[in-house]
Amino acid sequence: MTEAWRPDDDEPRGAIGPVRVRVPAKVNLHLGVGPLRRDGYHELNTVYHAISIYDELTARRGDTLALTMEGEGTGELALDDTNLVIRAAHALAGYAGVLPHARLHLRKQIPLAGGLAGGSADAAAALVACDALWGTGLSRDELAGIAADLGSDVPFLIYGGTALGTGRGEAISPVLARPTSWHWVVAIADAGLSTPTAYRELDRLRDTGAAGAPLGSTDALLGALRQRDPRVLARTLGNDLQDAALAMRPALADTLKAGEAAGALTGIVSGSGPTCVFLATNAADAERIAAELTAAGVCREARVAHGPVAGARVG
Ligand code: ATP
Repeated sequence: MTEAWRPDDDEPRGAIGPVRVRVPAKVNLHLGVGPLRRDGYHELNTVYHAISIYDELTARRGDTLALTMEGEGTGELALDDTNLVIRAAHALAGYAGVLPHARLHLRKQIPLAGGLAGGSADAAAALVACDALWGTGLSRDELAGIAADLGSDVPFLIYGGTALGTGRGEAISPVLARPTSWHWVVAIADAGLSTPTAYRELDRLRDTGAAGAPLGSTDALLGALRQRDPRVLARTLGNDLQDAALAMRPALADTLKAGEAAGALTGIVSGSGPTCVFLATNAADAERIAAELTAAGVCREARVAHGPVAGARVG
């Protein structure tokens, strides 16, 4: 039996070598936006889906808390206490009663402000990586509890897969689906869109009667996920924020049209945009559609991805 660790032990618990965590991006297969709540958040009814575009966070022992990065957003994203990685490390250390000491390095492939929850993904990765580095040994549910205070999408990225999100999106329950892999094309835009601005734009469109009817229930989508037919799934994808994203970035209509013209079953704006995601019939079709979208010049870059994939994991 191993002895319990005490803060004054000479030997630190946790990992000695570096801990590497991979965390996926998310798309919302259904993003139903309800009324604005008194706390400033909207009531959401969403189905999250984790896809195979990853950020990677490496955590090493250190005498302070420090963050470096490479990849998407380098030079743009602050690496100070405002960064969600640093905020997550502090939150875990505070919860577990340990010193927040680690040298963290982020390799970012998820675009900034893309509607793919990259910042939330990094926060989830930091919780999982520091938990392993510091040997705090929290359960996924405990980590998700800390995650909820960091951002609405963070708990989902601890679990991954496909899951229902309610409340402001932080209350997660897994979706029972057949073990199917869906094939996606992800069209990344030149510049990001701010999530709070997209919600404000939706409120404005609703106030002026210019927004489409709200999506309502997730039943049709949940039913489609239990089948293996991407054509059925395509008919049930929806995003209440899409009108707002299109109003803020009208060129996204051309991206959506180009994807469908290239043979995608359907395309939607991901979250608050501006990333557009397209459902393809199979992996080969997804590759072809991505190549056509890139050639058409309607996005900075088109990548293929599959889902669902696991959430933030060591290894
Ligand atoms: P969502 O889909 O959850 O609305 P998003 O994909 O549109 O999010 P993010 O890339 O998650 O947008 O980041 C939104 C903002 O969060 C950034 O513009 C940045 O100011 C802040 N932020 C803080 N830490 C990070 C991080 N590690 N990575 C990305 N953004 C971060």
